[in-house]
Amino acid sequence: MSVRVAKSAGFCFGVSRAVELVQQAAAAGKRTLTLGPIIHNRHVVEQFAAAGVRVIDSPEEAGPGDTVVIRSHGVSREVYKRLESTGAEIIDATCPFVKRIHGLVSQAEAEGRLPVIIGTPTHPEVEGIAGWCTDCRVFENVEAMEKWVQEENVPPDLPVCMVSQTTSTEFLWKKCVQFAKKQFTYLQTFDTICRATECRQREASELSQRCEAMVVVGDLKSSNTGRLAMICREHCDKVFLVDNASELNLDDFRSVSDVGITAGASTPAWIIKEVNKT
Ligand code: SF4
Repeated sequence: MSVRVAKSAGFCFGVSRAVELVQQAAAAGKRTLTLGPIIHNRHVVEQFAAAGVRVIDSPEEAGPGDTVVIRSHGVSREVYKRLESTGAEIIDATCPFVKRIHGLVSQAEAEGRLPVIIGTPTHPEVEGIAGWCTDCRVFENVEAMEKWVQEENVPPDLPVCMVSQTTSTEFLWKKCVQFAKKQFTYLQTFDTICRATECRQREASELSQRCEAMVVVGDLKSSNTGRLAMICREHCDKVFLVDNASELNLDDFRSVSDVGITAGASTPAWIIKEVNKT
């Protein structure tokens, strides 16, 4: 059986940076907390917990003497201010690509435009972006956007600034832009899909067209891992989404000659290696 591992599988720049910042803080002997799990991967979170890094759910759980790391998804302006008021040291590991979107929506609003975010409304990254303006709209797909325009009779001269969640797909983004271009006279768009994500999705798509089975490695809570599985399923009937090597059932691969492996941005290299060896 031949096994091919996608070159882009595993940690992206933003996740890698966030994990390193936590490691550095803990190694320096700081009382390190992360606001939410640092990444969507329980193995990494468990390793940090064993090293004394604590996960908190709200800024108020921190205090003077603590060091709080903000994860790569970023947080809203309000959460940032609440963190500052605790007196804790803040290490901001917000991915620079996400930080850029915070600036875009904030500036758009200051210029009198309505920020429109294409993404999953309940995703922490999207909640964080929405929190850098006072009013915005978030749409998961073009149908939701069409519904908004129709039901609220949105005028075509409304100045709109569209951005995307970094892990959205090109397909979804293009459909939304296509609709918005027909709808709004004063439209501004910023394709803020992360290129690391785009590359990973393109590679997963290509690999799944050439393989009889695909293994997608990652945490089930990770949206980019879920999207990878969805993309692979468009081309391949046998797609297995696993958290680690122990979840693989070798019987599923008996009659398969070609297997592809890809992994979400929060999957450490050692888990990918174990899956490959299995
Ligand atoms: Fe940053 Fe892209 Fe990684 Fe998200 S997927 S953390 S935007 S590098």
